[in-house]
Amino acid sequence: MMRFETLAVHAGAEPDPETGAVTPPLHLSTTFEHAPDGSLPHGLLYQRYDNPTQQRFEQALTALEGGARTLLFATGMAAGTTVLQALPAGAHVVMPDDVYHGYRALLQHYGQRWGLHFAFVDLADPDATRAALRPDTRLIWAESPSNPLLKISDIAALAALAHGAGAQLLVDSTFATPCLQQPLALGADIVLHSATKYIGGHSDVMGGALVFRADAALAAECWNLRKLAGASASPLAAWLCLRGLRSLPARMAWHGRNAGAVAAALAAHPQVERVHYPGLATHPQHALAARQMRAFGGMVSFEVRGGRESALAVASRLRLFINATSLGGCESLVEHRASVEGAQPTSPPGLLRLSVGLEHADDLVADLQRALAG
Ligand code: PLP
Repeated sequence: MMRFETLAVHAGAEPDPETGAVTPPLHLSTTFEHAPDGSLPHGLLYQRYDNPTQQRFEQALTALEGGARTLLFATGMAAGTTVLQALPAGAHVVMPDDVYHGYRALLQHYGQRWGLHFAFVDLADPDATRAALRPDTRLIWAESPSNPLLKISDIAALAALAHGAGAQLLVDSTFATPCLQQPLALGADIVLHSATKYIGGHSDVMGGALVFRADAALAAECWNLRKLAGASASPLAAWLCLRGLRSLPARMAWHGRNAGAVAAALAAHPQVERVHYPGLATHPQHALAARQMRAFGGMVSFEVRGGRESALAVASRLRLFINATSLGGCESLVEHRASVEGAQPTSPPGLLRLSVGLEHADDLVADLQRALAG
């Protein structure tokens, strides 16, 4: 049995049998030749259905998550939308109250039109979650750690709750990646990733993935929907995502080390009201995070004393942390989340979210301390 880091380097990245190329080939062909009898010698028909570069990525992520099947999509939003649209008409979905704001907006605008019923619930509260379940609940959607409050959901407990109610559990594991957390082993049915983030790892590719514990009806439905609705990734995106996956364990170790140093420095700073990082002993779910995750990742949020104006001023004084959205790249980013969450922001007004990059931790801490000093 290969260890995780070894698997990450080799899964889906076997040398090309045609040419011996060590780096996986990038196949841009949109179409694949039929045999004289009309059959498909390689099982491939058309790029929108499947393509060999994407299949390599899917095989690799399936191995890393310990799943049965993976589907790659154009974006994380496309992956999530596909699951929601693949549910039976009239299905009820339980969503976290602090779900990534794109999915909240999607359901609020289109959920009803698609015949879905949904409730936003604090998944850290087992009683509230149980109370939200209905006979027609088909999916509990968790996001752990959550964006941007770094809340932790008890994946094993939610899986038991979902299965007891005849529903499935999806975990958006974008912040954790397969390196830090294995939701399928904890009982989840589907893992969702925005591959745009840590998996791609260089802020230069968009992708989304669904990993299924069983290659069963919902996976088949999502494959069919990807094919017909056309939410497929391009081969170049698949190739870049596969490239990112191979160095993911090394990058996540460094991101986590830096984030730990940044979180500790912020927690000790008088201008900082609160730090949200599951690796801090003061995080309300630190024990759960330590049980469920191998390490705590590269995302840190903190609340600046003085609210919105102070937070915006601190963000503007940072030099190394670039003020931009997204996360998971080599460079450190800072963002005032309430400013980008639309008309009804759910993030506290003084909250800044950091994607802690791969620079030296001392430089990042010094940048933050200078910006906080005013
Ligand atoms: N899930 C989480 C936790 C995210 O942070 C994001 C994007 O920021 C998404 C999903 C959506 O992914 P994408 O931007 O690739 O569509």
